Amino acid sequence: MSGPALREPSGTALDRGEGFPRPGDVMRGDTLVGLEHVYKIYRVADTGVAALGGVTFDVAKGEFVALVGPSGAGKSSILNVIGGLDRPTAGTVEIAGSDLGRLSDRDLTIYRRECVGFVWQGTARNLVPYLTVRENVEVPLLATEQAGSVRRRRAAELLELVGLSDRAGHRPFMLSGGEQQRAAVAVAVANLPAILLADEPTAELDSAAAERVLGSFRDAVREFGTTVIMVTHDLLAAARGDRTLRLLDGRIRNPAQPGRMDGEGRLELPPDVVATLAGSDLEVEISDGEVRIRRKRESRYG
Ligand code: ADP
Repeated sequence: MSGPALREPSGTALDRGEGFPRPGDVMRGDTLVGLEHVYKIYRVADTGVAALGGVTFDVAKGEFVALVGPSGAGKSSILNVIGGLDRPTAGTVEIAGSDLGRLSDRDLTIYRRECVGFVWQGTARNLVPYLTVRENVEVPLLATEQAGSVRRRRAAELLELVGLSDRAGHRPFMLSGGEQQRAAVAVAVANLPAILLADEPTAELDSAAAERVLGSFRDAVREFGTTVIMVTHDLLAAARGDRTLRLLDGRIRNPAQPGRMDGEGRLELPPDVVATLAGSDLEVEISDGEVRIRRKRESRYG
């Protein structure tokens, strides 16, 4: 696929540097997305629900990060604040070193339109049902004011990238779930967003179809240097990313270091952990493929 045909849109407030640097200025490998102490509190009746309780992490340009965690952990809330769909209650979300919180509503709209692509779980939210697949991919290209012939060529290249050239004239309902999600990826990357946000993109797919969708994310990373942040329940899907961030109760959980147990059941722990646990009665729990060692809880009944 030729790069130059897929130029970034031009002539916008962002291009003119009005308050926001182009994420495209960032070199591959540099930090593109930075969250620092991000809190999101939703008001429910008289009280607040903390969806995010101080989340800090960086994502490099061109990185493919999987965000995993149980339902209610705050994954969608993170996508919403990175995608400019919602503002954090506290903390900063920086894109290419620029604080999204300082953008006006107008610039946030431009950011969302030009810098972010979305792939949602339900295919209905990704594609316009009465347009063909090719037309769906052309929709985001209309904003680039390029000639129809250029748009058609770019749409054809994108459909080739996601392996749907032979489905270009079909309407979404004629496609399988996996094909619809690959079409959604083509739509999402059509105007070369710096960031691709995906919310459970493989949730409704069998493993072979999921694999092809994940392959199309990887292709976008390779071809365009897109940064992908994907929420998933599927640990196999997460493994296709470069890195997995685990979220629990609105906080990032640091991944445990895998330990090795010898034949006699002895596990060597870092000295600071041994110092913390030494002398206490301990209990061990095995769940979610992890072994947890912690101080024994005091029995309520003495
Ligand atoms: P996940 O995507 O991991 O399932 P969410 O980010 O959707 O988690 O939600 C995190 C927490 O915030 C949950 O307890 C959820 O009920 C709550 N929450 C999310 N959105 C809202 C909202 N609009 N109003 C009130 N509470 C919300």
